[in-house]
Amino acid sequence: MYIEENLRKVEQDIPENVKLVIVSKTQSPEVIRKVYDAGHRVFGENKVQELVAKQPELPEDIEWHFIGHLQRNKVRQIVPVTAMIQSIDSLRLLREVNKEAVNANRVIDCLLQFHIATEESKFGLELKEAEEIVDSPIYEEMQNIRLCGVMGMATFTDDKKLITQEFSHLRSIFQKLENTYFSNDPAFREISMGMTGDYRLAIDQGSTIVRIGTAIFGPRNYV
Ligand SMILES: *Cc1c(COP(=O)(O)O)cnc(C)c1O
Repeated sequence: MYIEENLRKVEQDIPENVKLVIVSKTQSPEVIRKVYDAGHRVFGENKVQELVAKQPELPEDIEWHFIGHLQRNKVRQIVPVTAMIQSIDSLRLLREVNKEAVNANRVIDCLLQFHIATEESKFGLELKEAEEIVDSPIYEEMQNIRLCGVMGMATFTDDKKLITQEFSHLRSIFQKLENTYFSNDPAFREISMGMTGDYRLAIDQGSTIVRIGTAIFGPRNYV
């Protein structure tokens, strides 16, 4: 029952208006089911193969978020089962999501992923690239995606000051985009930042979505 206890602890730690996406990567459907049975409905996966394998094994009313690097040739597989794609990092990817969403007759919520960490390896846009996307006439024409905000990952470090700066930077990117392009669009309202190690710092900096795995399931076993 430790999973249920962990869930209650994390829920208590998060303000009502912050959405909890439980990151279920590497966890089996049986284990995810325990969280579902404890009442939670919103889960995040970072690999296409894993999401499409698990989704049919679990209840239909789960809201799946895709949070990992996404290749265009795999978009088709996840569009029918995903509520939100948090990892949009190019216009070409967004265009592919829109195309497949048209085919599936759905509207997919999307977040623009930003590179805010000092590490080279983390994916994501710079502000200028995001502005090019939303300025583009191609974006203007897309009817089946809805941009809902931004997502980012802080540097993996114990340096709280650095993490706080990075989250604050993401919030300022959000505000810039909101003011310039989305001031009449109430759907553009999400700042997805904060994981097990840093979600309190993220919430202090204005996070509206946290993505948490380890605090719920314990350390992951990568096989
Ligand atoms: C794995 C992952 C998380 C959750 O990490 P934890 O430290 O286990 O909470 C959050 N966001 C992304 C993008 C991830 O890949």
